[in-house]
Amino acid sequence: MARSTVLIVSPTHTRSLEIDARLLAWLRPSLIGLSVATVLLTGALAVVGQKYLSEGATSQQQIGHLQQELGHLRQLTSAEINAKLASLKKSEQVIVELQTYLQARGVHVRPVSIEPPAGQPNPAAGGPALPIARSVPFTGSFAHDAHSLLQAIQAVPLGLPHAGPLSSSFGARSNPFTGRGSEHHGGLDFKGTSGEPVQVTASGKVSFAGWRGGYGKVVEVSHAHGHATLYGHLSRVDVEAGQTLAAGDVVGLLGSTGRSTGPHLHYEVLSRGNRLDPQQFLALNAAPIKPWME
Ligand SMILES: [Zn+2]
Repeated sequence: MARSTVLIVSPTHTRSLEIDARLLAWLRPSLIGLSVATVLLTGALAVVGQKYLSEGATSQQQIGHLQQELGHLRQLTSAEINAKLASLKKSEQVIVELQTYLQARGVHVRPVSIEPPAGQPNPAAGGPALPIARSVPFTGSFAHDAHSLLQAIQAVPLGLPHAGPLSSSFGARSNPFTGRGSEHHGGLDFKGTSGEPVQVTASGKVSFAGWRGGYGKVVEVSHAHGHATLYGHLSRVDVEAGQTLAAGDVVGLLGSTGRSTGPHLHYEVLSRGNRLDPQQFLALNAAPIKPWME
């Protein structure tokens, strides 16, 4: 019987083994297959191990990166909160300015409150019951918006140019000298005493100051958005053309110059040259005042 010698080599020792040549021939494909499988398995394990290791490294990197992000967010959050608080404070100041301005112009923006105290039913309230909002609205642009609103409102003719009673409305009226016929009145007349101050109703620039026909001594002021106001029959003009004015500044003194039956202020509001009824500009939420009759 033919025998073959097989050497078995291991890290610790080497020994020889004699086995039947036919058995070896029969076993050879299996041994080769086993070797190939071992090589493949070792390769696969190396690839998986490498992948696992690199994934581990990536995770470590990711954790480090996330920790950095968190620190950054913490800083950002406190910076954002501070910025929001600052803008909120600024908005509050602008709102107070806005209210003060409107009140100075004779426009009252705060309604009288009749809300019952907490815990008592309210006989005049309603609306859908919405969940309580937890999010704080973003206020970054609010201060800027409120400031723009204040600037826009300051340029609109608002309130009274003179506190006297209304002696003639806008529109059709009879001739004030005769009490007869019909003519168009392009503004409002406020009765007063000569020498009383007349105030501009919005910020703007004096476009005319001097004598103009039936208006007598007159001041015309240009405002933003194509608006203009006119103050007629003055006894004295206190401003000159080109001068910049803030709402409430005195433009001159009440009088009876030009086509006038007695001391009064003739007040006009114009939009791109067209005369508007100034009564709609006297207050934003007040009923129109009634013409004064003696
Ligand atoms: Zn008039």
